[in-house]
Amino acid sequence: MRNKCVPFLAATLLLFYPLLSIAQQTNKQTQMSEFIQSNKGQAINDLKSIVNINSGTFNVSGVKKVGEFFRKEFTALGFKSYWVKSPKRAGNLFSTYGENNGNCILMIGHLDTVFAKESPFQKFVLDGDKAHGPGVVDNKGGNLVILYAMKALAHTNQLKGKCIFVALMGDEENSIGGAKLGRQNLIKFAKKSKAALGFEWQIANKGTIARRGYTSWKLTSSATAIHSSKIFSKEVGFGSAYEQARVLNVFRKAFSDSNGLTVNPGKIVGGSSVKFKTENDYEGYGKDNITAGIVVSEGDLRFKTQAQLKNAKVMMEKIVATPLLKTKSKIEFVDEKPAMAATPENKALFNKYAEIAAQVGEHHITPLDASKRGAADINHVAPFVPTLGGLGVLGTGLHSVQETIDLASFPKAMLKTALLVNAISMDSYTIK
Ligand SMILES: [Zn+2]
Repeated sequence: MRNKCVPFLAATLLLFYPLLSIAQQTNKQTQMSEFIQSNKGQAINDLKSIVNINSGTFNVSGVKKVGEFFRKEFTALGFKSYWVKSPKRAGNLFSTYGENNGNCILMIGHLDTVFAKESPFQKFVLDGDKAHGPGVVDNKGGNLVILYAMKALAHTNQLKGKCIFVALMGDEENSIGGAKLGRQNLIKFAKKSKAALGFEWQIANKGTIARRGYTSWKLTSSATAIHSSKIFSKEVGFGSAYEQARVLNVFRKAFSDSNGLTVNPGKIVGGSSVKFKTENDYEGYGKDNITAGIVVSEGDLRFKTQAQLKNAKVMMEKIVATPLLKTKSKIEFVDEKPAMAATPENKALFNKYAEIAAQVGEHHITPLDASKRGAADINHVAPFVPTLGGLGVLGTGLHSVQETIDLASFPKAMLKTALLVNAISMDSYTIK
């Protein structure tokens, strides 16, 4: 089969590598492909050993241990690999190669998983052409795709002259402080890069050119808590439970058909009073014959573009500003991750990826609509650089005890990554 593909490959490769002869390019690709195939067993062993280290976001020593594996591996390839501290978390591992070489590429993964130390899901289990385990896909498989793509480039003497930044974040699954804490380095590297690539899981036959952004909100409705016999009267009004219900119901009507914009109240607490243990941990106290003095809800807002977020905030403020009699409401927003919008640059990057995917037999790849994907760390850099996500492995059961990697996708993802990095690194290649 491989031989039949050579003329097609050669023709396609000519577009990417004008400085090398077709024979040289085909040769390099064959060498990389062979390297990846012959190291597939080693990659699966590496996956097993890092999956068997629990690295739930709050297990700082576990996340560090997984990071140390990558720090040693990237150092052995000639990268400068170092930790950047982050409060209450393990920190983020940055590995840089040829920082002054130009045409830099930022690659993003994460070391932590959603599975805490106490989770029953702790071990890697091989199951034919699949494997189960916490983080096999999200994101330990994806991180190894980056590492083995770099190994394949190094093995074929193609790493030389490139500029690569690898960011393995220690707290993507429960980040702290958003862009204000921990993400400045990511943004600093993005600003120096020609493209940023994300290694969260692949979606079959799709290219992640867009991911929705994420903002959280807290809605507080208040009124005087008083005997319920007077509710609906001019003196007492409606109480904060009806006011909170009004706001949420108008949100539902206003946003339930908004082209990828969603508003979800995820938690609601209230009563005659609310006792705050911390800003986000509180309990309501109340009786059926006392009007509600305070009701608090917390939720999220997901959006395709920053303009969509801005409009939604204005509408929500407006809705909040017309309270029921003798009540009031206020809403506070915390912007967590900006939208990775489907820009023309992201589409151009996707087109290059689709050409490369076709070379490994993946035809008819189409761009994914942002509404099909939540936010990831790549969102933080999307305002600064062309981005393409979902370059990790294929799998199922993400964020559940069924998390499973499709092992056939593992070497393919490595080869596509190595080829994409080669293509983007060319001086002659501009992303438009
Ligand atoms: Zn993830």
